[in-house]
Formats: sequence, C-alpha cells, structure tokens
Amino acid sequence: MAKKQYRRSRGSTLIIAVVAVAMLAGSFALGWHFGVKSTKFYGNILLVNETHRLDADYVPQELVNLYQQRHSFRMASSEIYLTRPTYEAMEEMFHAAEEADMNGYIVTSGYRSYQRQEEVYAQSEPGKAQQPGASEHQTGLAFDVTVETSDGFENTPQYAWLMKHAHEYGFIQRYPANKSDITGISYEPWHYRYVGVDAATRMWKTGQTLEEFLGEK
Ligand SMILES: [Zn+2]
Repeated sequence: MAKKQYRRSRGSTLIIAVVAVAMLAGSFALGWHFGVKSTKFYGNILLVNETHRLDADYVPQELVNLYQQRHSFRMASSEIYLTRPTYEAMEEMFHAAEEADMNGYIVTSGYRSYQRQEEVYAQSEPGKAQQPGASEHQTGLAFDVTVETSDGFENTPQYAWLMKHAHEYGFIQRYPANKSDITGISYEPWHYRYVGVDAATRMWKTGQTLEEFLGEK
C-alpha cells in the first residue's frame, strides 16, 4: 500500500515538473518573440504599458455594453464596453456623483480591441496613441470621461469630484500631470483605471502611479 502511494506521488510530481518547465519555456519564448516583458498580473492587478503588452488575441471576460445597463452617466456612443466589475464600480461612482449634484459626465471610450488599437495608432500623430497591445483600453478596465466644457475637463468641478472620490470606488487617475516620466504617457485627466478599492485607496494616499505601486519604477 505504502509503495503504491509512493509511485502515485512520483508520477504526479513528474507531471507538475513537466508542466512548470513548459510554462516557463513558453513565457520566455513569448517575451523573446515580442521583445518585451510579458504582461504582469500582480495579485489581481493587471499592468499594461509600453513594456508590458497584451497579446493580439487578449479579450477580457465578461464585457458588458454600458448602454444596455442602468447608467447614471451619458455616453458618446451606444457601443462602449467594459468588464462587468468595472461597469458596476463606475455606475456606483457616477450614481454617488449624481446624488452629490455632480452631473453631466460623458463616457467617451471603454474597451478597445487590439485590432481597433492598430487603427487608432495608424491614424494618430506620433506619440499621441499607444501601440497595439500597450493600451489599457484593451483590458476593459479603463474608460475615458469628460463633460461639456470649453475650459478643459481638468478645470471642471466634475473633475475635482473624481479626484476626491474615484478611489472610493476602486478607480485611479492613471496618467497624472507630473508623472509622465514614470508612466510614459503625458497627462490624461480623462482616463480612469479600475484596480479595486484597496489598491486605489493606497495609491490615492501615497500619490503613486500604478508602475510605482507595483514596484516597476
Ligand atoms: Zn483612455
């Protein structure tokens, strides 16, 4: 009996070892192929930037069409998608904003496929758009928002409200004004990223970017 158990455990150890080696080889091959590090998950936080890119076929699970959900915000299009947890957190946030008489938010962009990002990149001036695979919009965890203003979104009370409260709903302003040397992206007052309440609150308190928070810079 004891001998039998020994054999079984040796067999499963071998399988685990083979799988581990295959996974390691696979990730090295991927990194070498793209010339960049593979995308990193830190716990459940996904980091996407110039050096941590998503594969062309990466499509997030559970995408929902915002227009078909209850929404306390306006939309620039009826075809904007986000992951369900991101949508639920943003709806809670904009509902709270509405309760505080903070209205007029217009969501302009959400999930963007790799192929769509290729088009956006091709049509943009150099340095104005992320390369395919390097855009947070491919995660389905990020959205762009604005209001009707001739003054710049960053000068509106709606922006000030987000700066004060977005972390309470799990969102961070991903590309702050004075951090472009770290994020690699110039100030985007309109771009918000879902990371969960705990991480967002910690980053809000320390003023860290996602790169800094995850120990990448
Ligand atoms: Zn954006």
